[in-house]
Amino acid sequence: MLEVSDLNVFINNFHAVSSLFLSLKEGEAVIIAGESGAGKSLSALSMLHLLDEKKAKVSGKVLYNGKDILALSEKELSEIRGKEISIAFQDPFMILKPSEKISKILTKAIRLHNKISRKEAKEIAKERLKEFFPSDYLRVFNSYPRELSSGMRARAMLAATLINNPKVLIADEITRSLDTINKEMVIEALKKKKEDNKTSLILIMHDLSNALSIADYVYIMNSSLVLEKGSADDVLLRPMHPYTKHLLNDSRKDDGIMRKSDSSCPFYSRCNERKDLCKNNDIPFIFTNNRYVRCLLYDERYNQSR
Ligand code: SF4
Repeated sequence: MLEVSDLNVFINNFHAVSSLFLSLKEGEAVIIAGESGAGKSLSALSMLHLLDEKKAKVSGKVLYNGKDILALSEKELSEIRGKEISIAFQDPFMILKPSEKISKILTKAIRLHNKISRKEAKEIAKERLKEFFPSDYLRVFNSYPRELSSGMRARAMLAATLINNPKVLIADEITRSLDTINKEMVIEALKKKKEDNKTSLILIMHDLSNALSIADYVYIMNSSLVLEKGSADDVLLRPMHPYTKHLLNDSRKDDGIMRKSDSSCPFYSRCNERKDLCKNNDIPFIFTNNRYVRCLLYDERYNQSR
């Protein structure tokens, strides 16, 4: 359904995403995780051709059902965005206009891609909203975004981005500022869409505590590179890369600062397993134990070196 190959993003001369390969099938969920500045959000935005071309140079291919999104015109893209592929953000106000009631936002979004009357769109909007707010959908329907709690706003944003039943949802850190209960409610809502509608999900995440309940595949990123990728069970339950282990043990302590490294390995300065070899050599992406790992621990040269 979605095949990303050799995606690179340069912001000025900074290599922000390095050669990302990603595959997403119908009804699958892929999580891209890592600390701030890893390149996760830029990867997501570039997949929908949403980066400002004056500031970001994007290369590679993003094939959606065989069409390269990066090569489409703005008109062709507007037919895909919101209808086929939708994106949700950490800040719900990126989607929910503060001056408009939820009813208006949803009705407009439906009519943007469907030739139906406002009355018909309103009825559809109410039904869709019920999936996210079974008991109080009418109150939410008649509210302004600011009248909702942060957790409700996040779910209302999801309702808006999923209103036209897109095939793919890209969700960029949407649970980041939510408390545990609201985080779980959002994850449950996404799981339901994945299971009932076969919606494919790309979830950009920071905190991996809920990841296992929804992900099929996990990509771990740091400093523009994917360091480990494989099935959710393999990566989350049997991590191999030292950075993945660090992230799983310590994900809440991220200070949001991307560390510069004088090695080809972005985790070198924090790695307890580092050797001189890691400093002086390119780190290959090695296939082992059913996943890819960018780490010399799994290279035969490691055991032979000091
Ligand atoms: S390549 Fe070396 S420094 Fe980097 S994570 Fe692996 S062992 Fe650690």
